[in-house]
Amino acid sequence: MGEENTKIGVDEDTIRRYENARYGIAGNHSAVQICSWNRKALRGMGVCYKQKFYGVDCHRCTQMSPAFAWCQECCVHCWRPAEWMKKTSMNEGEVDDPRLIIEETVKKRKILISGIGGAKDANKELFKESFNKFPSHWAISLSGEPTIYPRLGEMVGLLRKNKEVKSIFIVTNGQEPHVFEKLKKNGQLPTQLYVSVSAPNKELFKKLNRSIYPDGWERLCKTLGMLSSLGCRTVIRLTLMRGINDLDEHIGQYAGLFEKSGADFIEVKSYMHLGLSRERLKKENMAPHDYIRKWSEGFSKLLESYEIEDEDPVSRIVLFKRKDSRFDNLIKNP
Ligand code: SF4
Ligand code: SF4
Repeated sequence: MGEENTKIGVDEDTIRRYENARYGIAGNHSAVQICSWNRKALRGMGVCYKQKFYGVDCHRCTQMSPAFAWCQECCVHCWRPAEWMKKTSMNEGEVDDPRLIIEETVKKRKILISGIGGAKDANKELFKESFNKFPSHWAISLSGEPTIYPRLGEMVGLLRKNKEVKSIFIVTNGQEPHVFEKLKKNGQLPTQLYVSVSAPNKELFKKLNRSIYPDGWERLCKTLGMLSSLGCRTVIRLTLMRGINDLDEHIGQYAGLFEKSGADFIEVKSYMHLGLSRERLKKENMAPHDYIRKWSEGFSKLLESYEIEDEDPVSRIVLFKRKDSRFDNLIKNP
């Protein structure tokens, strides 16, 4: 490994690896990347399912992480470089100010996106808007676990104050339930909070998610249990790995877990055989959309409070909505 080059200790080798994989490093522990859907949108080649389901601006999206090499899990299906994430916590006194992270993220995003404007098939109007305006959608997910950044709430608060920002999504593995209590208390919740689930029980959770915490399953269940009381839009994203976590014996366990959570939406999505996950899983673990649709139809029979709302075959995903959710599908306010 190379020399430690930051105060919180991301080594140069790790930074180089991420940069080679087309991540822009923003400050000492944050990163931004241009998602393939973002590129497609700028070329008029379609939009991501989050625009279709929830109305986010795909072409003005910033996909970023305030903790790109930090995660408490090492999931088998992670197509991000989980093996490069050696760190699991940050000291609040050493982290970057959220203002710096936002500024640097916007700067690095511009650099990453600049080449697309010159492409023959680029939609000049959309590109101009995407390049010149402040990003209107913030997808705080990318690589790593965002709740490890101790000033996440302040970052969300700053984004919320920016009039250009219409939506902020946070994707979490649910290992730090206390963080959501704090975000709620301080009025710093995102527009939409996603909790990733890929196991129906403790045994499989240990095999598939490989949390550093011996009580990782209980932590995830605690996070799921607080979703209905948070007050923001909440989503459970279930990643199905065909032949591994989608068996007949699992389906009822998911139903029990999700019914109890009270989440507004459930996304049932196929595992995608991409990136470093190809070294851990087989191509056949990635299910085609027909399979996901059929599985979801079976699942819907066990769910009393949810019904199928939409689907997107390209992304191999089916959306469920809670019948008594107070939220519209399309986002109106951040
Ligand atoms: S919302 Fe997600 S899928 Fe859509 S452009 Fe942003 S990062 Fe990509
Ligand atoms: S929690 Fe997310 S970032 Fe961490 S290893 Fe799992 S899939 Fe990857």
